[in-house]
Amino acid sequence: MAEHNYDKQVEELVRYYKQAVERIKSELDRFDLSDFSRANQLATLKNIADILKGLNEDAAQWVADNIPMAARAGVADAIVALGVVNTAAEAMQIVKFNRVNKELVAAAVADTQADLLAVTQNVERRVKATVRQVVGEAMRQNLAQGINGRRTMNADIMAGLRGKLGDSLNTGIIDSAGRRWDPKVYVDMLSRTKMMRMTMDATINEAVDREAYYGQISSHGAKDACRNWEGRIVKLVADAPGDYPYIGDLPGREIFHPRCRHTVSPIRRPDRYE
Ligand SMILES: [Zn+2]
Repeated sequence: MAEHNYDKQVEELVRYYKQAVERIKSELDRFDLSDFSRANQLATLKNIADILKGLNEDAAQWVADNIPMAARAGVADAIVALGVVNTAAEAMQIVKFNRVNKELVAAAVADTQADLLAVTQNVERRVKATVRQVVGEAMRQNLAQGINGRRTMNADIMAGLRGKLGDSLNTGIIDSAGRRWDPKVYVDMLSRTKMMRMTMDATINEAVDREAYYGQISSHGAKDACRNWEGRIVKLVADAPGDYPYIGDLPGREIFHPRCRHTVSPIRRPDRYE
């Protein structure tokens, strides 16, 4: 069974985010904290919105290319595992999405695009709120000028406000478990997990369509909880006969967790693998 490595694709997507973050950082560095005009704020926020708009377009295109690619790889896996052809290259020639896979791919593309859009919306909201807060604080400092005989803003205060602007880019995302993520790290985890998941779901759908109702979990000498599942036989549909766990019921903390590299290889006769 082919082991899939989506590092190259994930790195490309993460690079889009890194580049956007760098460009936003330099917008924030250029932002003049002594200019309290609304026009100054709006110009910066507009530039940031434009950067994020470009990022959203690149990310949406990436998803439209890569989620179907991951699904094709999954279908090819099933075709090879079931002995229809001998090589992955031959399998790729005959890959077609069955009805279930067609729908699944469309849904996964939409879901992943929505998840990535939520990342940029989150970044935009935080950056906007921070720019407003920092301008407010700068204005207050300005009002208080003269208290200590200085005419310009204290360098420490200035650096503190600049730091707040920079921080607004680093901890944007809070996941469903309440953990905070750097958006770039989150995008890496999300896209990698979605691609692996897509590949496996496409494999299962192709296998079931070809009347193979069991699968064997791949082995690569895992060190985490997955190791207990390596080589195990599972059912691909809940009501297949036999005393095997159904793949959909496996504990997500132990196997097929985020970033998990394990896959399932379809088989027709589980008794031959025991
Ligand atoms: Zn694993």
